[in-house]
Amino acid sequence: MEAVTDRAESLPGLALSRGVLDRAAQRRTEPDLLARLLTDPSTRVHVVRGDRMQVLDGPTPHLPWRPPRPDDVERLGFFLGVLPDQPEDALGTPGGAAVVAVVKPVVDPDPGGSEWDDSPSWVTLRQAGAVLPDLDAGIFTAAIALANWHSAHGCCSRCGAPTRAAAGGWIRVCSQDGSEHYPRTDPAVIMAVRDADDRMLFGRGVTWPVNQYSMLAGFVEPGESLEAAVIREVFEESGIRADEVTYLGSQPWPFPSSLMIAMEARALTTEIRWDPVELADARWMTREAYRKALQAGQIRVPTGISVARRIIERWLGQSVEAAAASTG
Ligand SMILES: [Zn+2]
Repeated sequence: MEAVTDRAESLPGLALSRGVLDRAAQRRTEPDLLARLLTDPSTRVHVVRGDRMQVLDGPTPHLPWRPPRPDDVERLGFFLGVLPDQPEDALGTPGGAAVVAVVKPVVDPDPGGSEWDDSPSWVTLRQAGAVLPDLDAGIFTAAIALANWHSAHGCCSRCGAPTRAAAGGWIRVCSQDGSEHYPRTDPAVIMAVRDADDRMLFGRGVTWPVNQYSMLAGFVEPGESLEAAVIREVFEESGIRADEVTYLGSQPWPFPSSLMIAMEARALTTEIRWDPVELADARWMTREAYRKALQAGQIRVPTGISVARRIIERWLGQSVEAAAASTG
């Protein structure tokens, strides 16, 4: 049996947790912050359309940016922060420059220009999250998370009146009662459950392809700790009793508004009774069985930007590509 992986190792390098932008949150309440930044030619503007941003190839894939344009101030905008101190980067941007995302319509009423073309360079965060450099991955993740929240919170949850964006795009204020509404993030736990024989628990969602397996996962409920959510979700979905819950790592998952929190737990029981509403299958797997299934092309691994993929690789002690290519 292989040694239990060092817990201190955690889950380094999660694709969407790499952001390095200085959020400079203290600046959000400056009067007319966005209006001023969007007339300052040193501001770096990124454009969001629906759930997409433009990613261009170069020495490395990157998010293009441009100085502000006059119509930017009419759009929903987010002050994402300022570039960290650094020598001018390859694209000529000095540290300290403000970074703003503006949301433009998916369908352009006045076509023309590269922002409006239908080129495949407009991609989703799922497509680009793993290949962008740290700075751009963080910008894309924050911009999409905020855009998703704004698009779903146009009305006040107290009185139903329209709300408007304020504080650099970080709150919405009710036009009727003045109440302030803050962006929400929904915590979800994803669980590496292992038994006394060091097998890991896998499940297949009812809507997934027949050979796709991942860790069990679920939302944290109101009034519940992360630990309690893990124990409840594991039991509800698989019938397994678990304890010794520990934290592994987290990454934002703005599809539309989650924070995925990776946890590890020890199984107290091994008999699986999966919930047929949630799962089409659940099973214990040894590393050896998982590697063999990979090598035989019998199992689909979770997407490269996911926490699940990193949990599996931590458990295997190697990348899934390496495991699939190995002969042992
Ligand atoms: Zn209201």
